[in-house]
Amino acid sequence: MDPSYDEIVRKFERYVFQTYTRQPLAIKRARGAVVTDISGKDYIDCVAGIAVNNVGHCHPAVVGAIKHQAGQLIHVSNLYYTEEQAVLAEELVNLTGMDRVFFCNSGAEAVEGALKLARKASGKKEFIAAEHAFHGRTRGALSVTHKEKYRKPFEPLSPAVFVPYNDTDAIRAAITKETAGVILEPIQGEGGVIVPSDDYLKEVREICDETDTLLILDEVQTGFGRTGKWFAKEHFGIRGDIMTVAKAMGGGFPMGAMLACEDIAVKFERGDHASTFGGNALSCAAALANIEVIKNEGLVERSRELGEYLINKLNALDKSYIREIRGKGLIVGMELSIKCDDIVNKARDRGVLLNCTSESVLRFIPPLTITKEQLDRVVEVLNGI
Ligand SMILES: *Cc1c(COP(=O)(O)O)cnc(C)c1O
Repeated sequence: MDPSYDEIVRKFERYVFQTYTRQPLAIKRARGAVVTDISGKDYIDCVAGIAVNNVGHCHPAVVGAIKHQAGQLIHVSNLYYTEEQAVLAEELVNLTGMDRVFFCNSGAEAVEGALKLARKASGKKEFIAAEHAFHGRTRGALSVTHKEKYRKPFEPLSPAVFVPYNDTDAIRAAITKETAGVILEPIQGEGGVIVPSDDYLKEVREICDETDTLLILDEVQTGFGRTGKWFAKEHFGIRGDIMTVAKAMGGGFPMGAMLACEDIAVKFERGDHASTFGGNALSCAAALANIEVIKNEGLVERSRELGEYLINKLNALDKSYIREIRGKGLIVGMELSIKCDDIVNKARDRGVLLNCTSESVLRFIPPLTITKEQLDRVVEVLNGI
């Protein structure tokens, strides 16, 4: 007999660190944009593991690649070469327009690598980050994450200055002789789906060039088609000196990467950075299959189209608590004049999973494979709340 919901929760409460606020839902399996709980109830998933399952849950091509690779070679360490890592590195470099890649296992780890590289390459220690930025929870990544509540217990962190997002004058004023780099999300995710003005990043790029400051673009959340481009930076026509990706990279398999331009990448020499699992054969096979699916199923274009479709439908809702709807592709934020918990709970009861970020922003980040009919249902459920 499978354990009951209560038994599962009891084990979590007894044995797992109490660091997450979990919803009262135990998930058993998932396919495409639908997850199923242990009692067999289905939910349309507008969370997608927090912008991870871009190709949908358990995509057969990703499952097949993982199964095949697991039977052949899972892990050997970076003491050796593998074909899977070689092929994926070339693919990623082509997709991102960067020159070299360092493989790791998560977003925070990618950011750690980026900050270390920027420090080594610049010979400086301080970073400029944006207000409401989220870059992860390890100590380096936390030092450029804005939320006071996350940072405070762990200070002193590495030196960082926070400036308002979407304000180029503030960045210009903040850059000093001590500045190693500027780190930005091209669209802020955890901060509440904040899309900057069209010329913001281009101007930041110019300021960084003028002042010889490194620009780090954190695309952990916005990568792999999420915003209607392969990477969000393409909306703004710029390239960072360093770039981070993770979340949707492995089709659900944990994976991350830090990429850099050649002149910066060469500043990391043998022994400067490492990760035991980084780019192992299994994760690379998953990522390669994931990228193939995004290409073959036209998911980047689909993300753009469905994002517009969803925003139009949400805009047609007549609810006094809706303040603003914004986004690009299938990262859409609905800012409310109230906290979103009540709506998240009611939607879940009615078979729709939604995520709340920054307390009052409902964030829609479904699989890019979601159908119009499923999005219609999501909006219908919201309309009934
Ligand atoms: C989620 C996220 C991270 C951290 O990724 P983890 O895999 O949770 O460590 C970093 N940067 C951005 C922009 C993110 O959205």
